[in-house]
Amino acid sequence: MATLARTATANTLLKVEHLTHRYGKVGSGGLLVLDDVDLTLRENEVVGLLGRSGSGKSTLLRSIAGLIRPDEGAIDFVPDEHGAAPSVSMVFQTFALFPWLTVLQNVELGLEAQRVPAEERRTRALAAIDLIGLDGFENAYPKELSGGMRQRVGLARAIVVNPSLLLMDEPFSALDVLTAETLRTDLLDLWAEGRMPIKSILIVTHNIEEAVLMCDRILVFSSNPGRVAAEIKVDLPQPRDRLDPPFRALVDDIYARMT
Ligand code: ADP
Ligand code: MG
Repeated sequence: MATLARTATANTLLKVEHLTHRYGKVGSGGLLVLDDVDLTLRENEVVGLLGRSGSGKSTLLRSIAGLIRPDEGAIDFVPDEHGAAPSVSMVFQTFALFPWLTVLQNVELGLEAQRVPAEERRTRALAAIDLIGLDGFENAYPKELSGGMRQRVGLARAIVVNPSLLLMDEPFSALDVLTAETLRTDLLDLWAEGRMPIKSILIVTHNIEEAVLMCDRILVFSSNPGRVAAEIKVDLPQPRDRLDPPFRALVDDIYARMT
């Protein structure tokens, strides 16, 4: 399946300004993890966050998802044309599924916080499962599925709420290269075909090739403390070919900037 082109717009979806966060007590030092991070996400773009382990990438994503409260700075979601704040979903590296729940029950959990009636919850969960390619596995348990299929469940649970912003924290790191490739292509195709109302994707990875394969823009994060050290626009047509000389040149260039 070929990856279609998306048309980028200039509309801003999210503005992060001067984000600073420490773990441990403020005053007694603590570990400064994010230092004055600025980040803007526009509609219709995939932005990659590339950096070493421990550089604060997950902390930044968790802050945007509202899972932790940063010490300083602002995270502003731009309301849509109806005045509604965009909703956010997150996909995790280790899938974060409940092993004692079926695929369907895990996906329905994505709607728990929204107080959706049981009947509708089921219908929407089944639709998300179908969309992501897990039709027929509704009643399976996570342990009966391969890693790639488990991450499809993670994706279904994220998209079932129709998020505007999809946050992905190393979503393919636990998968083999080919499984990762299939999942990545399927996700981008579904999006390009307009089958998910996602407006923007922010993906964390420590894999330079993965970032160049997927992203329109890449932010390179420095460590100790985490800070946006470089921003790279990826001007290569989709679908991208990792053997293409300009692709290789960009990967090498980013590698050089990171070391
Ligand atoms: P990354 O995702 O880039 O690997 P993280 O945001 O997970 O980085 O972590 C950044 C730093 O903060 C690391 O040094 C990590 O050990 C530390 N850290 C992460 N979470 C916590 C926490 N809940 N409490 C204390 N330190 C943490
Ligand atoms: Mg992390």
